[in-house]
Amino acid sequence: MRIIRYIDKNDQPQFGWVLEDKAGLIEGSLFASFRRNSADLPLDGLRLLPPVAPTKIICVGRNYVAHAQEHDAEVPEVPLLFLKPPSSVIGPGETILLPPQSQRVEHEAELAVVIGKRSRWLDLEGAKDAILGYTIANDVTARDLQRRDGQWTRGKGFDTFCPLGPWIETELDPADAVITCTVNGELRQMGSTRDMVFPVRQLVAYASSVMTLEPGDLLLTGTPAGVGLLADGDELVTSIEGIGELRNPVRAEQPH
Ligand code: ZN
Repeated sequence: MRIIRYIDKNDQPQFGWVLEDKAGLIEGSLFASFRRNSADLPLDGLRLLPPVAPTKIICVGRNYVAHAQEHDAEVPEVPLLFLKPPSSVIGPGETILLPPQSQRVEHEAELAVVIGKRSRWLDLEGAKDAILGYTIANDVTARDLQRRDGQWTRGKGFDTFCPLGPWIETELDPADAVITCTVNGELRQMGSTRDMVFPVRQLVAYASSVMTLEPGDLLLTGTPAGVGLLADGDELVTSIEGIGELRNPVRAEQPH
């Protein structure tokens, strides 16, 4: 099933499900029990929101060998975790803003895991049950600030630095899905999730040994090689085989 979040005719955010080019309301709680209404809303007439509103976004650094190598960095022995703030999330079609403090903002195409239930101390089997589905993310990064600060909160944390969507796919097999990133139609990144150092379930289990995972929380699983510069006016497309594609324009933010 494909799950969206959208603005309904009363201006309220709702979860919905997608059937081809139509969508239907999901009534009840997506994370407990719900009912699917008939899919009679044209999908292209809906304003889509980010498919979840996470309490936290857990990210994994250097989870693809080829990406670690392009930064002359070692592959970590255990997953290297960091956080992005929920305020960095934007939805499909929303604009990524390049902050005036950075001269080097880069794209990082990533598979995002959506957590379906409150959990702690998961084993690999439990991790499988705790996953609701998968969506597309881009871990946008101010590389110069990440390097200068030594830790990553500022470089990874600006508003609009976590584009997400367009929907959650509950049926994806994350073992071998192709991830691509194009800028203005030019292919910048292409890799497969099979090249992850730590696979999805292991990452979820590991994160849950540190902090309680809440319904709707996200785990971004790292980026393949080929990260590169974003500039004012660019059109970023992040895609994952079996999910779809996420489009976001890029604009310079004026200083306030
Ligand atoms: Zn990343």
